[in-house]
Amino acid sequence: MGTFWTVFPKIKVFISTLYLSVLRIFSMKTQSRIVVKKFGGTSVGSIERIEAVAERVCEDAKTGQSPIVVASAMSGETNRLVRLASEINPYYRGPAYDMLLASGEQVSISLLAMAMEKRGFKAKPLLAYQLGIETDSIFSKARIKSVNSEKLKSYIDEGFIPIVAGFQGVTGDDITTLGRGGSDTTAVALAAAIGSNECEIFTDVPKVFTADPRLVKKARELDYLSFEEMMEMASLGSKVLHYRSVELAAKFGVKIHLRSTFEKREGTWVVPEGEVMENPVVSSVTHDANTAVIKLFPIKEKGQKFITELFTELAEKNVVVDIITQSQNEIGQRLAFSVTEEDLANAEVITKKLMPEGCEIFIMRDLAKISTVGVGMKNHPGVAARFFKVFSEADIPIHLVTTSEIKISAVIDKNKLEEAASALHSEFTLDKDEE
Ligand code: ASP
Ligand code: MG
Repeated sequence: MGTFWTVFPKIKVFISTLYLSVLRIFSMKTQSRIVVKKFGGTSVGSIERIEAVAERVCEDAKTGQSPIVVASAMSGETNRLVRLASEINPYYRGPAYDMLLASGEQVSISLLAMAMEKRGFKAKPLLAYQLGIETDSIFSKARIKSVNSEKLKSYIDEGFIPIVAGFQGVTGDDITTLGRGGSDTTAVALAAAIGSNECEIFTDVPKVFTADPRLVKKARELDYLSFEEMMEMASLGSKVLHYRSVELAAKFGVKIHLRSTFEKREGTWVVPEGEVMENPVVSSVTHDANTAVIKLFPIKEKGQKFITELFTELAEKNVVVDIITQSQNEIGQRLAFSVTEEDLANAEVITKKLMPEGCEIFIMRDLAKISTVGVGMKNHPGVAARFFKVFSEADIPIHLVTTSEIKISAVIDKNKLEEAASALHSEFTLDKDEE
């Protein structure tokens, strides 16, 4: 007995030391976790900003994190390259175009790497072909097929901070690009490849808003959004995240933390639906001011055959068709579909080439698509009625309309966009309280 009591305090000390060391090992493990951090164009838009990004990443590395950086081109650069290409040939799409567009990221990642080396860190700038980001061969809209995660991990094991060029991939001997805004997708693909359940996307806004605050003065900040809502928003024209990045995040369970490059506070988390606390009927009003519509009437004979040929050829030329409406009366069929303004030139040429005799074509420009999105719509009837009421009260004509389980969209004249967005925002009680 006596022996037990004298030994007991020692056991107690031993147990608590063991406990502390386990805790320490555990916290070291969590601290040295690998985190993919993506910085957008404005975040690396000048030398000062590149230095600031390098500073922030190095600070994180000092706390024991292992960052993997993904960067976009410096702001405005990709647009400049697009303009150069279109001065030579606005219709060309292919390897040369993608090689040109991908060059912007090469500049930003090298500068970032230099800024980190200056701060005493080992940084490794990596283009897609060096890292092995394999895509399919749909130029300008390529999809990532695989990432060489072993290579990425070995750079980290050797103490490097990998700085990866966003937006680009490789197929065979060619460079591909993932579509405008595609750096987000690079970041999520890397996070998924290394088995991380989180990806940080740094941008020039602190949060995702219920509507574009430049358009709707009363827009509010959102703390959480579901993958599904964010996917709808992205496909409806919100520029916040590249559509494919959210799709990948949902598939691989990578939570996206969208946050500001310039502030340290929490941003908006994009997470599985079950993790969003409240589900309002409508969580956001999203718009796309880059819409054009082609209308055809009357399509008399062999209408179905023509429509099939038309959409086949549009797809072959990589023209993405968005809304389609088709109806029939005794004179013939009426077809209307929307495309982006960039694709309008190609779409018009193809349609005119295939169009049957006696059919008239109407091209409508300066349009915008406005949508309300929310997973809450699934269980709440009457959203369509409220949606249409807003347009009728404001006397705004709707050219096309489409719905899904969690959204309603209307194509309207661009000059009515602001009015429509604010009215929808109020109707669905998203307005922030007046200060
Ligand atoms: N630099 C590309 C673009 O401007 C990719 C990106 O920023 O995500 O579209
Ligand atoms: Mg972006």
